[in-house]
Amino acid sequence: MPELPEVTVISRDVASLAAGRRVVCAGISDDDVSNAGVEGFPAKLVGQTLRGTSRRGKIIVLDFGEVVGVVHLVISGRVLGFPVWQEPDRMNTVMLEFEGGVVLGFTRLWLGYFDLYEPAGVDGHPLISRLGPDPFSPEFTAGYLTAAFSGRRAAIKGLLLDQSLVAGLGNIYVDEVLFAAGVHPARKADTLTPRETETLHAAILDILGRAIEARGTTFDSYHDAFGETGKYQHQLRVFDREGDPCPACGAEIVKLKVAGRGTHVCPACQPLTSPDAPDA
Ligand SMILES: [Zn+2]
Repeated sequence: MPELPEVTVISRDVASLAAGRRVVCAGISDDDVSNAGVEGFPAKLVGQTLRGTSRRGKIIVLDFGEVVGVVHLVISGRVLGFPVWQEPDRMNTVMLEFEGGVVLGFTRLWLGYFDLYEPAGVDGHPLISRLGPDPFSPEFTAGYLTAAFSGRRAAIKGLLLDQSLVAGLGNIYVDEVLFAAGVHPARKADTLTPRETETLHAAILDILGRAIEARGTTFDSYHDAFGETGKYQHQLRVFDREGDPCPACGAEIVKLKVAGRGTHVCPACQPLTSPDAPDA
């Protein structure tokens, strides 16, 4: 599933291709793809101008003025520029043509959706209303994390994956962030020391920022709106590197299950007890 960096890149790509342009043609393959339905989707979008795009957690938000598109790309979902209009089908489940011949296809969206809301209704979307702060928002500070971890006995990895605690992280970047911070993913959240929490907070911003610069990670199928792969997979240090030597210490990277997810750890760099607080 695309995480914050990939969704950021796609959102910006869509803006660079289509912002300021009016929709001249729109369609979806079947009613499951959008709350607007096959008939309502073009009725609501044709004639609207894409004013801009943004991101809420892993959701792409397309601002058409009177109507807002809320797009959730799941596994294999992607947005691609097309040379000419084509009718939506089982592969390209949402098609949009903008004036000037800009055609975007939202492919394999049947596991995700492209819902349409009135602007005032977006915050009430079931996935958006429960989102925690964005990592790049002013609310997301080390102090916020300290408070969020306080009294929580759950594995730190599970909390970082919880979109209501912080929006946008998924399995790949949580493994990378915890490695960078030297924190074992199975550590209970309330055992992190203040220094560890600060390091973790900085690692989240650093790694997400660098991943956006590298235009995301292509692990399974992610491509940007120009059909190009991301480049951050070349910078991954533990994710999917089971059996490889740790890039920091040379110990063998192992794969565990934490919070129900495949999890990559250097047992030497990420001890189960904090080096700061051996009694924790
Ligand atoms: Zn190591």
